[in-house]
Amino acid sequence: MSTEKCSYEDAGQICRGDGYLCDEDQYYEGYDPTDMTYPCPCCNTQVYLEGAKEDAETCSSWSDLWCSGTGETIWIHRSRRALAASPDQAPKILATLGPVHALVADRAAPEGYVVSVNNLQAAGETP
Ligand SMILES: [Zn+2]
Repeated sequence: MSTEKCSYEDAGQICRGDGYLCDEDQYYEGYDPTDMTYPCPCCNTQVYLEGAKEDAETCSSWSDLWCSGTGETIWIHRSRRALAASPDQAPKILATLGPVHALVADRAAPEGYVVSVNNLQAAGETP
């Protein structure tokens, strides 16, 4: 991590400078420094991508008021975000994470989901 404060901001979230994001209004009005819910994809890329992998491998479907998706869409979205925010570091970290066995909700499957393997190229493996 460089000594210069990280200036990452995206979709209403701002990097607090300690490797974690908070909402823009919280940033100016006061935030809880012990809240480590959102790692910064720019200056805390390792933790961010490890969290993305864990979520992708444990969640087969999700939805909120605005959109929905699967474990695989979590992985695709967050790995792209990390690559955009940290083009130097993210590819190296992706290579160390290995294959990501993302869950995809599928009502036809006995378990209710299928597993889609991601990140093979970055991990140096062929499908
Ligand atoms: Zn940051």
